[in-house]
Amino acid sequence: MRIDLDPVPSDAQLPSRVDVVVIGGGILGVSTAYFLARRGVSVAVCEKGEIGAEQSGRNWGWVRKQGGDPSEIPLTLHSVELWEGMNQDIGAETGFRTCGSVSLASSAKDIAACEGWVDSVREYLPDLGTRVLSTRELQTILPGAPRHFLGGLYTATDGRAEPQLAAPALAKAARSRGAAIMTHCAVRGFETSAGRISGVVTEKGSIACDSVVLAGGAWCRIFCANMGIFLPQLKLRTSVMRTGPLEGGPASAAMAPGYSFRRRLDGGYTIGTGFMNYADLVPDSIRMLSLFWPTIRHEWSTIRLRLGRRFLDELTAPSRWRLDRVSPFEATRVLDPDPVAGDLDRVLETLSADFPVFRSARIAGQWAGMIDVSPDAMPFLTDVPSTPGFFIATGFSGHGFGNGPGAGHLMADLVTGAKPRVDPRPFRFSRFTDGPRPEYRARV
Ligand SMILES: Cc1cc2nc3c(=O)[nH]c(=O)nc-3n(C[C@H](O)[C@H](O)[C@H](O)COP(=O)(O)OP(=O)(O)OC[C@H]3O[C@@H](n4cnc5c(N)ncnc54)[C@H](O)[C@@H]3O)c2cc1C
Repeated sequence: MRIDLDPVPSDAQLPSRVDVVVIGGGILGVSTAYFLARRGVSVAVCEKGEIGAEQSGRNWGWVRKQGGDPSEIPLTLHSVELWEGMNQDIGAETGFRTCGSVSLASSAKDIAACEGWVDSVREYLPDLGTRVLSTRELQTILPGAPRHFLGGLYTATDGRAEPQLAAPALAKAARSRGAAIMTHCAVRGFETSAGRISGVVTEKGSIACDSVVLAGGAWCRIFCANMGIFLPQLKLRTSVMRTGPLEGGPASAAMAPGYSFRRRLDGGYTIGTGFMNYADLVPDSIRMLSLFWPTIRHEWSTIRLRLGRRFLDELTAPSRWRLDRVSPFEATRVLDPDPVAGDLDRVLETLSADFPVFRSARIAGQWAGMIDVSPDAMPFLTDVPSTPGFFIATGFSGHGFGNGPGAGHLMADLVTGAKPRVDPRPFRFSRFTDGPRPEYRARV
């Protein structure tokens, strides 16, 4: 594995019965378990590999309020509020710090897009505090920013956290409130009795339960398919690097078309590829083209298509398996793709040209991650009406780390039947079948 995770050892004993089984030990799964355990619900997290080893430990670490779909803003605001109190609540370091973030604008069209976004979320502006920066204001926020940037979208209360610390810290906090944490424990599928959830089958045995929350990230689609449930989901690949400690760099996080950066707790920077992602062509890309097409059309300039080994791998992978047989989840403990060759060199070159402080950066690590994406780039945080007791939490399409605690809180509301703190309707499972198709709204 190319990331240095804070390890969470497994419980020794698989519980025979709990109220809720959470599948997946990423930020969504462990947040859900934490908020359930805090309410006195008995819960077990089953993770096929290590806690936080996939997207939740590989992301840029941005906790950002700005730029998302307007209908998601209440969830995002709640999530950032939870992050702000998190280190104290759980008594552990997640790396959360308020640092501000800027989406840099280099043309009048970019500025118009920033203004358009601000207009679309006007009712939330008092809580968001987002504004469009002029060229002069940008120099105060990001001293030395090159003059070809005309300004940007800025939120002073956006933050950052450490992906390699946060999910492990939340898992330990859930455990200290009674949750069982099982690693190297793939869930092969669920079982039903009289039409509703009655348990799960794991590689280590069965657990009886009343509810299951599937928070399996990029694996949710095949898990659901084996259970006869259609979940539209594809994957994008993106590369990341980190530097050693660097003096004199920007305090605010920033993103431009060719790069992104944010300061780390260890004094270095996490650097990403900006808006650029790679889409490996796979059989599912063809099967679900019409569902994803409106978003692909919008985001065409930020997606690089590739045809490679993954097409054949996915074509020949089993799509159905029996629960008493080894499943695909055990065959790949951790999704650990290679960074795209040459990508990070180009990123560092562009970034260093714009912010010369990065010329002296020592690259301390490189990795990649697979981002799970939904057709409208909105999450599924939902029950599944055809299978009472089954819930899904996935699909954040590149912004689920910042939203993770809010999503976990919402899932705990849904599972326990509590009045949800935020409206869950934009995240319902049936939104592609029960009315006009949701529209993709461009992110900034
Ligand atoms: C490079 C990169 C940069 C990103 N940057 C940001 C950012 O700056 N800010 C932001 O908000 N978001 C960002 N994201 C997105 C964010 O990381 C994800 O939206 C979020 O981490 C998803 O969390 P998750 O818990 O749903 O999934 P994951 O973290 O992928 O966790 C799912 C877990 O489920 C486990 N699992 C799957 N199936 C099974 C099974 N059957 N049995 C047991 N375990 C199973 C997997 O092993 C995995 O550990 C980025 C993503 C990437 C890859």
